[in-house]
Amino acid sequence: MQKSKIWLSSPHMGGDEINYINSAFKENWIAPLGPNVIGFEKDLQTYLDENKKIAVLSSGTAAIHLSLIMLGVKRNDYVICQSMTFSASANPIKYMDAKAIFIDSEPDTWNMCPKALRKAIEYGIRENKKPKAVICVHLYGMPAQLDKIKSICDEYDIALIEDAAEALGSTFENQKCGTFGDYGILSFNGNKIITTSGGGALVCNSQENQKKAVFYATQARDDAPHYQHSEIGYNYRLSNISAGIGRGQMQVLDKHIALRRKMNQFYQELFKDTEGITVFKEPNSDYFSNHWLSAILVDSKKTKNNLTREDIRLAFEEENIESRPLWKPMHLQPVFKDELYFGGTVAEDLFRDGLCLPSGSNLTDEDRDRITSVIGELFK
Ligand SMILES: *Cc1c(COP(=O)(O)O)cnc(C)c1O
Repeated sequence: MQKSKIWLSSPHMGGDEINYINSAFKENWIAPLGPNVIGFEKDLQTYLDENKKIAVLSSGTAAIHLSLIMLGVKRNDYVICQSMTFSASANPIKYMDAKAIFIDSEPDTWNMCPKALRKAIEYGIRENKKPKAVICVHLYGMPAQLDKIKSICDEYDIALIEDAAEALGSTFENQKCGTFGDYGILSFNGNKIITTSGGGALVCNSQENQKKAVFYATQARDDAPHYQHSEIGYNYRLSNISAGIGRGQMQVLDKHIALRRKMNQFYQELFKDTEGITVFKEPNSDYFSNHWLSAILVDSKKTKNNLTREDIRLAFEEENIESRPLWKPMHLQPVFKDELYFGGTVAEDLFRDGLCLPSGSNLTDEDRDRITSVIGELFK
């Protein structure tokens, strides 16, 4: 019999989600509006920052798309984006018919390199096309160098969009990720740190912007008794059923972050004497990662028998344990081959050597034993 699958990250319910869903049924709020939608937005606001206003949406991708619309990005405008990320960070740039400029990572947080960011902005200015927005990402929950990135954006007066899809609960200098930029993006997809089965949120700086985002997300209906439209709208609002799951998940978010951080500790311990393997961790105490996913770098010049990232991945696969190479950088993706890129080979090297490991808050001692024995066998 095949052993049960150990996932990288799977949904982990707290228990109260079903009660919020039941009340939606009882009150017949089976719609993309209702008390759970309002309640979930309030919960997120309380958790992140009372000065922020939140619009919950059908996905994190929709939130990025709306942020670009709200910032007035037009055809052929430049939008700067971290290269090392999931394609959903960059795809909305193309929905807008804008041009992406991809930026390399720095090795400490694996996120946007401030030096390459500045070069890209200077390039845009020389071309008489100052970039309209910067999309930075907090990969695997690790906060980017937000102090440097934000000060560069401020210096050039360019909007900052924080893709915090993987970083709900992470902080930089004790401030929550997703609250630094002009807009912050969250995702509640099935594999994220909390899930609504599918969903996202846009973190806004004002009530006015939140209202405008909801307007675009609900087909841009003008204020009239009939259906009247002066702008193109979208159907991007979150369902009241899904929002109910979100309210239940908010109750266990901090507990689940603690468990994910324990998984990271487990890997630090597991690999502490393994030559050639380093576990990804915070550069210093300014950074607090939710450790959505734990990851390792494999230096096959130093590992026993020159084992590679791929050898480790295949050994896990053999035992029905999921692991996955780091995101393949966007500037190396066929679909983005014509876009600009600034930086060196940090992202490329991370992709070659990096592997994400099972990181869920619902992993058991037995799961950890299975992981330990694969590594024990490989490196014995
Ligand atoms: C998951 C994710 C998204 C997209 O979120 P969805 O809710 O799946 O649309 C965007 N950016 C990053 C970095 C992600 O990991």
